[in-house]
Amino acid sequence: MTKLISIIVPCFNEQEVFVETNRRLKAVMSQLPIEQYQYEIIYVNDGSVDQTLPLIKQALTEDKHLKCLSFSRNFGHQIAITAGLDACKGDAAVVIDADLQDPPTVILEMISLWEKGYDVVFGKRKDRVGESSFKLLTAKYFYKLINRLSDVDIPRDTGDFRLMDRNALNQFLLMRESYRFVRGMVAWIGFNQTFVEYDRESRFAGQTKYPLKKMLRLASDAILSFSNTPLKIATFVGFITSIAAFIGIVYSLYVRLFTKSWVEGWTFLMIAILLIGGIILLVLGIIGEYVGRIYGEIKQRPLYIVKDKMGFDD
Ligand code: UDP
Ligand code: MG
Repeated sequence: MTKLISIIVPCFNEQEVFVETNRRLKAVMSQLPIEQYQYEIIYVNDGSVDQTLPLIKQALTEDKHLKCLSFSRNFGHQIAITAGLDACKGDAAVVIDADLQDPPTVILEMISLWEKGYDVVFGKRKDRVGESSFKLLTAKYFYKLINRLSDVDIPRDTGDFRLMDRNALNQFLLMRESYRFVRGMVAWIGFNQTFVEYDRESRFAGQTKYPLKKMLRLASDAILSFSNTPLKIATFVGFITSIAAFIGIVYSLYVRLFTKSWVEGWTFLMIAILLIGGIILLVLGIIGEYVGRIYGEIKQRPLYIVKDKMGFDD
């Protein structure tokens, strides 16, 4: 029986790389023995405003293996991945970036590990060429932090380049939360996971679609959806300030009742007010981050809106 492999490629303004990516993916997938494997490539157009969509449409007319989901606007990388996984039919699904930083040939290694019985095979970056030292440094400390804060073990040096077996994928798809950190969610489901190491290339062309703002949002989604530790820290800070406040109260009463110098102490008063005020706002902010996400989840909006679906049978 032939097995179907689904390749999912999120694309946001990737006109400079799309044609080459499509060529390389097809070249790799056509190396698989046709009597054993079928494949489909699903391009998820995440609200691109350049020529990406026309290029995808053009490619679709030339090849029956290709499919496209086109969003009504930009919903973000993690949501685009989810949409592709929702729509795919494969016995295994592979998510890969459109910019050729993840070499398509690694897919073949992933498939052979999958055939050995692994449910999830993720790509682990051995070497990262052409990424800023700022990105490397922040990534390193981010993974240290998230692994300390959360209960699930999120593998270091991995992105969203991975293969998932249908079984694991179906479990993943049951999680419909709006604030998504896909690599953490995949770690959370468990199953038999392994990795292949690869050298991460620099972007084939074009600019990164992850400016600092999007990176920070991903990082805060990751921490807040996988850990309640910030809330515990807030409680702890509140506790310590309460003790300090109590000592301050006893001291003030003592000065007022048993000494004659009770008008003094203005500096102490100011420090106390500002410190406690600051801490209250900080703690409220942390709580607010969680409340905001509860609000986002409770609306139960669809995760994304597909404007156009092309190349699918149904
Ligand atoms: N991407 C997306 N939506 C976005 C941002 C990025 O679909 O809002 C896609 C992008 O087209 C690429 C992948 O996500 O295929 C990773 O983005 P990028 O390579 O720019 O991130 P980096 O490798 O710089 O972290
Ligand atoms: Mg990239």
